[in-house]
Amino acid sequence: MSLRHDIVIVGGGGAGLRAAIAIAETNPSLSVAVVSKVYPMRSHTVAAEGGAAAVIKDNDSLDEHFKDTIGGSDWLADQDAVEFFVKTAPEEMIQLEHWGCPWSREPDGSVAVRPFGGMKIERTWFAADKTGFHMLHALYQTSLKYSPITSYNEWFATKILVENNRCQGVAALDLRTGKVETVLAGAVIMCTGGAGKIFPFTTNGAIKTGDGMGMAYRAGVGLKDMEFIQYHPTGLPGTGILITEAARGEGGILINKDGYRYLQDYDLGTPLEITDPDHPVKKSMELGPRDRLSQAFMRERDKGGTISTDGGPVVHLDIRHLGEKLIDKKLPFVRELAKNYAGIDPVHTPIPVRPVVHYIMGGIDTDINGATQLPGLYAAGETACVSINGANRLGSNSLTELLVFGGVAGHAAAEFATNNPDLDEAALELQGVDEQQRIARDFINKQGGTERIATLRKEMHETMEEGAGIYRTDAALRTTSEKLVELRERFANLLIEDRSLTFNTELTSALELDFMLDLALAVAESGLARTESRGSHQRTDYPERDDANFLKHSLAFKTIDGVRIDYKDVVITKWPPEERVYGR
Ligand SMILES: Cc1cc2nc3c(=O)[nH]c(=O)nc-3n(C[C@H](O)[C@H](O)[C@H](O)COP(=O)(O)OP(=O)(O)OC[C@H]3O[C@@H](n4cnc5c(N)ncnc54)[C@H](O)[C@@H]3O)c2cc1C
Repeated sequence: MSLRHDIVIVGGGGAGLRAAIAIAETNPSLSVAVVSKVYPMRSHTVAAEGGAAAVIKDNDSLDEHFKDTIGGSDWLADQDAVEFFVKTAPEEMIQLEHWGCPWSREPDGSVAVRPFGGMKIERTWFAADKTGFHMLHALYQTSLKYSPITSYNEWFATKILVENNRCQGVAALDLRTGKVETVLAGAVIMCTGGAGKIFPFTTNGAIKTGDGMGMAYRAGVGLKDMEFIQYHPTGLPGTGILITEAARGEGGILINKDGYRYLQDYDLGTPLEITDPDHPVKKSMELGPRDRLSQAFMRERDKGGTISTDGGPVVHLDIRHLGEKLIDKKLPFVRELAKNYAGIDPVHTPIPVRPVVHYIMGGIDTDINGATQLPGLYAAGETACVSINGANRLGSNSLTELLVFGGVAGHAAAEFATNNPDLDEAALELQGVDEQQRIARDFINKQGGTERIATLRKEMHETMEEGAGIYRTDAALRTTSEKLVELRERFANLLIEDRSLTFNTELTSALELDFMLDLALAVAESGLARTESRGSHQRTDYPERDDANFLKHSLAFKTIDGVRIDYKDVVITKWPPEERVYGR
């Protein structure tokens, strides 16, 4: 028997919970299912450290936030979406405080903000350096207030159910029983987060395997701007654990093996002329945008300025001059992580860091309401591409994005479900049976096979880092793409040894790898087709931005012949493309 709700949300992170609350507040008679493969408080949102951007101070304006975001995106973000985003952001942040989020304060009691990379004015709200933890907590406890919200925790969604060209629910594996359940609804919202795990070194939690993007892609929905992968310049070597940008926002500096502040040698953008003395432009350097800082690291490495470690080449992030008192007050988590995972105390010793994959700008193609091309299917959060991030997301915009577009998608999906209450239940139930059979046949009961999940995953990681990393070329992307096709073929010969139905982690790892192989190929093929350099996508064989041909979003579609790439116009409302410049 299927379960029936008005709306199913897949994902209990910031976007998913914000969407659920939006629906409950708009129409309490609608029943909402939140299906999540982990308990909501274990979603990756909990790991966010630095903060969330929204205009609040008198020296700031919506226009400045808009400009920073569009410039940061290298003009690939949709300007109507960004205008809406910056306007709604402050309301959402204040609302979250009313739900219990303890924003850090100034001595006078007003909300404190800190500088963040690529933001020319300080506008990043924070709760010490555990912002995501506090935000998710506030959202989770608020969601518990609403009885129409039902949680299905430790349920792994595997398929979007489509009937009569309408999305009408999902099939999900109950990890405790191994049974595939069908959860039917008039609308589905994908809030499944990012896909950093397609790369070897990442700040992303183990669950960030892009399942929602994979499900939408298989259902025929386009994945937008998948070539844009954000590297964060300061991850710990080995683990990839993030040392938040807040460490640089508070005054931390990056030094090379000689103790030299090497960023001054790199062009992080043409210096801005300061014409308005009331709006001085902050010096960028360490607070330059993430793509430029990660690229400068690679060039410094090539010049021999980095330090070799077992976890690869590193530079040092030095916060010693901030002093123990400030570090303990504003960066306690940085100190804790550095002690536990790098074995050093940053009060006395600089922290070794290297660029690590952090965020995927691309995702499920949606419009400004979170709607996809498939009626009844919506998406929000990191899994979606609205797009406000374009070719390079600015740090601290994405936590705010969860609130703004999680809320919007919730409202839109509620309206759609209300207007489309009738479902093809019998046909959907049969699809659920088919899905159970597929999982039994291809995984749990699969006989023979010699390929190990870990081997295929490792080879996928290596080829992604090699060909689709910080710098790319036609030849390297082609090699990566061919390798991924080979890995897909070898996946058919997978060896499965665990036949159990209860919390079978071999099964979930296989399902995740299945999605990741699809997404990795979409990244490589989208990157191959974009013969220009923009934001995080740097082609050494095409070093210039090419607005004449590529001021457009890429769309990757899954076909039986491989990936088909299409394009879609970028929405420009008020700021035509210019050179991307940062003050120094
Ligand atoms: C270490 C770190 C620090 C960060 N710091 C900041 C910061 O300071 N500021 C900022 O703006 N951004 C930051 N980011 C980025 C930001 O935190 C994320 O983009 C954002 O939290 C993603 O939220 P989400 O709701 O889209 O997804 P997530 O929080 O990742 O949640 C995804 C949900 O989907 C569920 N799910 C996934 N697949 C399935 C499936 N198959 N079936 C069922 N459920 C599924 C999971 O269980 C989970 O509940 C940071 C990211 C990282 C990794």
